[in-house]
Parts: sequence; structure tokens; C-alpha cells
Amino acid sequence: MSWTIKDLPVKELSTGEVLKIKTFTLSNGDGPHIHIQASVHGAEIQGNAVILKLMEALKHKKIKGSITLIPMANPYATLNKHGTYTYGRYNPVTGDNWNRNYVDVVKVSGFDLEAFCKRNLETEWGLVKESFKNELKQSFEEFTNTLKEENKIQDNNKINLILQELALGADGILDLHTGPTATRYIYSAEYEENVSKHMLFRHVLVIPNDFAGAMDEASFMPWIHLRNKFKELGRKVNLDVESFTLEFGSEETFRMDEGSKDVESILNYLKFKGVLDEEPEAANPYYSKLKDYTTMYAPRGGLVDYHVAPGDHFKKGDKLATFYQMKDIDPMDPIASCSHTLIAKADGIVINRCPSSNVHQGMELFQIMTNIYR
Ligand SMILES: [Zn+2]
Repeated sequence: MSWTIKDLPVKELSTGEVLKIKTFTLSNGDGPHIHIQASVHGAEIQGNAVILKLMEALKHKKIKGSITLIPMANPYATLNKHGTYTYGRYNPVTGDNWNRNYVDVVKVSGFDLEAFCKRNLETEWGLVKESFKNELKQSFEEFTNTLKEENKIQDNNKINLILQELALGADGILDLHTGPTATRYIYSAEYEENVSKHMLFRHVLVIPNDFAGAMDEASFMPWIHLRNKFKELGRKVNLDVESFTLEFGSEETFRMDEGSKDVESILNYLKFKGVLDEEPEAANPYYSKLKDYTTMYAPRGGLVDYHVAPGDHFKKGDKLATFYQMKDIDPMDPIASCSHTLIAKADGIVINRCPSSNVHQGMELFQIMTNIYR
């Protein structure tokens, strides 16, 4: 087993400097390929601790197949500091979210899925997967070459196209993120909900098998299109390619001690995939559908004292936060005169909260799982 390390140029700056990403690939014979990347949102850096812990763990293990690790996948976003804060979620030039610029490759490249499926209606699934990956790569390359020739590679999408191309042949794609101020949770598509329990997260948000521009969706959509087309033609396929977004706590936080626990979820997934020859565990997480993952916007402005933290379960009637408005202070009754308490209208689990206590009306205050099931 040996590591292959590559430097890939991803962005030329106005000064002529070139930003690069590093890919680390560990291979050992035939087997599944797993793609893991961290920090596409530049302030979400805990995934790098997880990658370090994973490399450390792999020193003592024998794998089957291959794993590609990409720490610091979007260096431009990580470099973007405003004071002590990292402006990492959005492209500072265009304002776009860095995790919404991937493409639905089957659709944009004009991949002839009907012809592919008709050709492979009787082919054994392992061979179908191999040819599908190869033909997808070819279509993707043609698509990006056309963009290049027409000068249509933007500041916005270049990094996304590079990462998506790197992940195209993978059987498992893990995109490591964090929330703003968050507990640990994972996004799982409906079709892979059963697999998500092997990721060992306590909270699972179940998203539709649909495309909205994110890496997880861009990676599973070709397989969803393939499954749907085969179904139309009368062949039933059980997909064994997964793609998840893993949210390891809060942005701006890098904790090696927490990384020791975080890496267990990835090691367990590698066991599930057969990359590691060990029995995987299964967790019993709290699930919520994306439509039941609700954002609570600040009903007023003020200085906010939060009474619930990410990961907390609350009941209808519980106090969630108290808003204080300094302009309303009556010095004879200072606290009561300027405070308003926000009460929960239904049960839920806090997943994210606003990192700031300085809140305008209408800002995102909490993101909450409701209609929870197990
Ligand atoms: Zn993110």
C-alpha cells in the first residue's frame, strides 16, 4: 500500500500566484474507491482534523480498493479573512455559495442515458458501473473542454468542476463541512437513508433524490438518473454508490481531540464499503426530512441570550432565547423592561444556531429538526 500525492493548480490570482490543492490517494488492488474532501466552505475546517486522524488510523490498517483525501479543497475560500472571521461560505467576488456550483453531469453534458441503458440492459451490475463511470468521465471532460474553449470557466465554478471530476469514479463520496454554530449531523439522500445509520451520526437530515447544486447531489444524481432509466426499461437496480455531506460541528473550529471521535464515522463507513475488512456498527440516529428541517428567523432585533444549544431537544413551551433591546430600558426595572422571551411553538432538536448574539429582525436564529423519527 502506498500513497500517491498530487498537486493540482486550481486558481491563478491577480498577482500571478497559483493556488493549488493536494490530493492524497492510498491504493491497494481492486475494490471500492472513496473520495473525501474538506473545507469547500473555507471556514469549515474541522474536516482537516478528521482527515489527519484518518491518515493516522490508516497507518495501521490494510485497505482494499482506494481512498482519495483532499484537505483544504477550496484554498481561496479559506484565505478570505475579514478581521478574525473567515468569509468562507460565499464567493466574495460573486456572492454565490461555494457548494451550489456543481453540475448535473448527465443533463448538462448531453449524456445519452437511454442508449447506455439499452446497451447494458442485461449486463452484470459490476460491469455496468465500470462502463458508466468511464463514459461519465468522458462526457464530463468533453463538457469542461467546451467551457474552456468558450472562456466560460468562471471564478465561481472552476474549483467545483475540478472537485466533481475528481470524484466522478468514486463509489463513496464524503464532503466534510460544518454548520455555523452546530451539532454534528449528516445530509443523506432518501435512497441511501438505510446506509446513513453506518455513518454513526446522531442526526440525519434526509434530502430528496434531487439536484440543487451541491456536491453530494452532483455525485449521486448520475446514479439516480441511471436507476430511473433502467426502471423505465424494466430493470431493477439497487444502488451501491453513496454520497453524503458530513457536518462536523461549528465553523472556525479545529479540534484534534474531537477529530478522534469524528473519524470513527468515516472508518465505520469504510468497513461498510468493504474497504476495511471489519464488521461495521450501526447507530440509531434521529431522522428528519429536509421539509421538516425548519429555519426560525428572529422575530425581532436585539441582543440575544440563547437558552438552547445545538444538539438540545426541546418541547413546545420551552424558552429558546431572550432578546434584549437597550433602547427600552427602564432603569427602575431594567431587565424586565427591555427583554422578550421566544417560546417554542412545537417540539424539536436544535441543529444550528446563529453564531452571533447581535441579531437583526429576520436573521436566521435557529435551524431545527421537527417531525423526528427513528
Ligand atoms: Zn458547508
